[in-house]
Amino acid sequence: MAQETFTFQAEVSKLLDIVARSLYSEKEIFLRELISNASDACDRLRYLSLTDPMLLEGALKITLSLDKKAKTLSVADNGIGMDRDDLSATLGTIARSGTQAFVDKLSGEQDNDMELIGQFGVGFYSAFMVAERVDVLTRKAGQEGAWLWSSDGQGSFTIEDAERDGQGTTVTVHLAKGEKEFLEQPRLAHIVKSYSDHIGLPIVFVSKDGDETTLNTASALWTRAKKDITEEQYKEFYHHAAHAFDDPWMTLHNQVEGVLSYTNLLYIPSSPPFDLFDPQRKQRVKLYVRKVFITDDCEGLLPPYLRFLRGIVDSEDLSLNVSREMLQNDPKLAKIKNGLTKRVLGEIKKKAAKAPDDYAAFWQNFGAVLKEGIYEDPANRDRILEIARFHSTRGDGLIGLDDYVEAMNEGQDAIYYITGDDLEQVSASPQLEGFKARGIEVLLLTDPVDEFWIPSLGSHADKPFKSVTQGAADIDNIAAGTEAEEKEGDKAKKTPDVEPLIAVLKEALADAVKDVRVSERLTDSAVCLVAGEGDMDMRLERMMRQHQRTQGASTRILEVNPAHPLIKRLNRLAKAKGTTIASMADAAHLLLDQARIVEGEPVADAPAFARRLAAMMEKGLAGQTAGAKPAK
Ligand code: ADP
Repeated sequence: MAQETFTFQAEVSKLLDIVARSLYSEKEIFLRELISNASDACDRLRYLSLTDPMLLEGALKITLSLDKKAKTLSVADNGIGMDRDDLSATLGTIARSGTQAFVDKLSGEQDNDMELIGQFGVGFYSAFMVAERVDVLTRKAGQEGAWLWSSDGQGSFTIEDAERDGQGTTVTVHLAKGEKEFLEQPRLAHIVKSYSDHIGLPIVFVSKDGDETTLNTASALWTRAKKDITEEQYKEFYHHAAHAFDDPWMTLHNQVEGVLSYTNLLYIPSSPPFDLFDPQRKQRVKLYVRKVFITDDCEGLLPPYLRFLRGIVDSEDLSLNVSREMLQNDPKLAKIKNGLTKRVLGEIKKKAAKAPDDYAAFWQNFGAVLKEGIYEDPANRDRILEIARFHSTRGDGLIGLDDYVEAMNEGQDAIYYITGDDLEQVSASPQLEGFKARGIEVLLLTDPVDEFWIPSLGSHADKPFKSVTQGAADIDNIAAGTEAEEKEGDKAKKTPDVEPLIAVLKEALADAVKDVRVSERLTDSAVCLVAGEGDMDMRLERMMRQHQRTQGASTRILEVNPAHPLIKRLNRLAKAKGTTIASMADAAHLLLDQARIVEGEPVADAPAFARRLAAMMEKGLAGQTAGAKPAK
């Protein structure tokens, strides 16, 4: 077949543009990326050869070579290789979700974008940081023909028939002017040692005369003793295994021996991966069996609520000769999963106790994911509850549930909480006013998952969870935290009787509300909405509506603050002679709409709301301007 020309997917062109303009200080990382791909290709071939041993042509390795005259550097592997379809599908599009996320984040501003490259790493395409052209000569394992992919990174690439001795892939980088440093063997040796020493295969430099020098340690990092591994090596392995370029927040390397023997080298990232909230909730830790890579998509290896973990698990006991699908149901795998889960939760707990500030950063990133475990994994529920942290109305720090219970006021027998979309908004909720005034702590919950674990748990340390936006507040019987707070609370108790107003509001609002009553929880606002005792919490209902799980809205209870000047005034009006329901209707509806707006709910009838508000303002202004002279 003759040479064919293809254009890059638009995103790739965008990416290449930036890579080419790159003033990136660590251009050398392109070599790490190419070696990483070569190593993956060998891993994949080794896995296939478990069922088809004929596929393996010899010991797997990665070979580097130089041609100073032609100014080329080649990275070759005898791994799985690619056929024509693989080539056009992978080297022309963006294969990896991380790279896609990178492109999505590109702002077009050079400085920002450069920095992003450092954070993401862009795989194969990073070769164009140093290359004026890149050739990929490749032959897929088990096939006859080979293919040559070639591009100068300027919008298009070509694919043509070629020949290659043996299977695998050779990436030849034609170095651009000014990149001569990559033609020096010591420089390459240094780069390999810094970034790729952890690779389990030999990375061999072949000189022009055919002399071979192995540049790396060539044993899988996790098989080495902890004391022989530097922090840098751990970090580089994380970058490779996770395709991530942040630093690990925690590294967990254990060699477990016993009924089951396995090694884990697990990492908790310091920044959240892009796919953290993918609906599939896949875990990403790679499974090896006796150093042979099996899969990076093993459902049974870790629970979904630990999907932020990266790294590898290498088992001595699982069978090499079963399919990935059968492996998922192996009882041994379930045991490994149990052991790993306990260890990870245990280590997290230690860190929470030792370094609370550092822990807060972790919780910020992954708390929402971990909380899924509270209702999904009863066996580990208590372990998760021990490490769960929450914002509350008492200060900026995070607290645990046990801390909360410990610090409860006298007479308080429930764990109070409020849910909402963000911290600022929930902490300003009117329903919190009475609790704040009396110094009763309320947990501020802002993750959607909070709507699920709270009802599934029901209580903690025999104290039921109670939403402050639902049911009666019942806070009058709880002692205030301090004397000043006691006074503040008492003020609210000695409130005027507003029954006449309540009667009028009930009649005027009729079916639009479930009930109207005096509030124990308001001190500053005039009104608020709460859900009835057995009704769905307002935020949960809003979430369900967004996801089309439910339609319409439940009617709510309108609570009024008898100490508020507006309520007092309306109460006088309600008692006055000549006042009718009709004459109070506008005020009643405006109160309700106000409460809905604060809650984040739309007003029920926007035109009517606008009309009523305009009428009220006009009346108010008429009072103010009655004596004023018109301006000249
Ligand atoms: P990533 O390696 O993160 O998937 P890259 O852009 O580096 O992203 O590579 C894209 C794809 O090209 C790889 O997923 C792989 O399928 C293929 N590829 C790259 N290098 C090789 C290689 N040496 N051997 C086989 N396939 C390769």
